[in-house]
Amino acid sequence: MPTAVLARPDDFDGWRTAARGFAVAGVSPETIVWQVGDVATDLLADPVSPVPAVPPASADAAEAAPMFSVPKAFLDIARRVVCSRDPRRFGLLYAALTTLRDRPKLFDDAADPLVRTLYDLDKSVRRDVHKMRAFVRFREVDAGGVERGDGGRGNGERDDAEGGDGEGEGERFVAWFEPDHHIVRLNAGFFARRFTNMRWSILTPDECVHWDGELRFSPGAVRADAPDGDPLEATWRTYYASIFNPARLKVKAMTSEMPRKYWKNLPEASLVPGLVAGAEERTRMMIAAGGEVGMTNEEVLAGVAAEMLTLDGLRIAAGRCKRCPLFGPATQTVFGEGPATARLMFVGEQPGDSEDLAGRPFIGPAGQMFDRALAAAGIDRSRTYVTNAVKHFKFEARGKRRIHSKPITPEIDACRWWVDHERKLIQPAVTVALGATAARSLTGKTVTISRERGRALTLADGSEAWITVHPSFLLRIEDRVAAALEYDRFVADLVAVRERLAALAG
Ligand code: URA
Repeated sequence: MPTAVLARPDDFDGWRTAARGFAVAGVSPETIVWQVGDVATDLLADPVSPVPAVPPASADAAEAAPMFSVPKAFLDIARRVVCSRDPRRFGLLYAALTTLRDRPKLFDDAADPLVRTLYDLDKSVRRDVHKMRAFVRFREVDAGGVERGDGGRGNGERDDAEGGDGEGEGERFVAWFEPDHHIVRLNAGFFARRFTNMRWSILTPDECVHWDGELRFSPGAVRADAPDGDPLEATWRTYYASIFNPARLKVKAMTSEMPRKYWKNLPEASLVPGLVAGAEERTRMMIAAGGEVGMTNEEVLAGVAAEMLTLDGLRIAAGRCKRCPLFGPATQTVFGEGPATARLMFVGEQPGDSEDLAGRPFIGPAGQMFDRALAAAGIDRSRTYVTNAVKHFKFEARGKRRIHSKPITPEIDACRWWVDHERKLIQPAVTVALGATAARSLTGKTVTISRERGRALTLADGSEAWITVHPSFLLRIEDRVAAALEYDRFVADLVAVRERLAALAG
């Protein structure tokens, strides 16, 4: 009996090589034994739905075999379907491959039983891939911690000789996940791209994947190898609460999207009852913002003139912002804060670590410096609107620390959309840019602060802006005398703004 021995249950390359060989030789699908390691997969096959018998390839086709090519779409499907747990998968794919030779449009016929079965398998694998992306939750562990799936090696061990910068060597993030299919390798690249700066392991019963700057795989683990809750859970809960869209709440759909089997690993699952209870109120708020139940925020925004939106509606929509990649690693959108009637608006650069966790602007060290200067200038912060040019925290992870990283121009420009809408709704008499990023956001140009500082500029919408330094600039000055002088200059700028506001009101 022709036998193909594949290295792993998701061995696409092995299947492809074997299948090509069989196709060239004109081997009929139902005669092949597909074996993973020592186990023949078709011995496990469901006897009521065997691999369909396909006649051996015709002599003409066999002759043309070396040139035999298949549509890329088929290979894409095949790459996923080999990851299915269905023991018939290799045979079904081979049957499709040989059929494609005579019927290149086979996959256009969705009613064909073979095509339908493959589409179903593909859908099930894709769904599993999506679930893994959505429901993997990393927990932080120390070096030498857990992973038995690592073949006994400590978590902190590195394969490479670089050794990093000495910081964060001990930390590793570990997640436990139970996929329905053999999707660990299929999904590994996604996690490597998404969590490039972390060292992590995802443990599953079949196979584990580890990232230390390069991907490694090891045999399966058991649930007890993965840690239980840790402080990261609070972050996940904050994140989930911020992306929860009350207008889309359908409890049945939600439990199908977040199947109960994943709940035990999800810190945010405990939030669901509370969010469901508060959903009606938040939905009313969204409808007030111009949306309809069932619409996404993007649809709400697209369908409604910006002028009709309320600040609360805008805040909810910004909570789902994906206009640039910064939303991924950040905990949440940090939207502006203050009364919608404010006459004075401040625009900072981007939230820092404290702001990212709390979801409020200017509450960390720079915020405290800002508060002190405002008080010295006689400005009541609670009557101003304070926001940032970029609404997600951009950082580099160094061990446990998240180091502020400056936003680049495309990120500032992507986020301008929100700042523009905030300004449209609030219509402040004066907007103050704190630093170069904010100045770029307001003017759309690179601005030299020393040249523009201390005087009124007219923005494209005809409103007035002032530019000054960012409070964190003051925090970075080491020389005490220079720091005191710069602080006084900053306060003087704020006083000038307060006086200008009074003049405009007068
Ligand atoms: N720096 C900013 O620009 N904004 C904040 O919210 C915090 C620090």
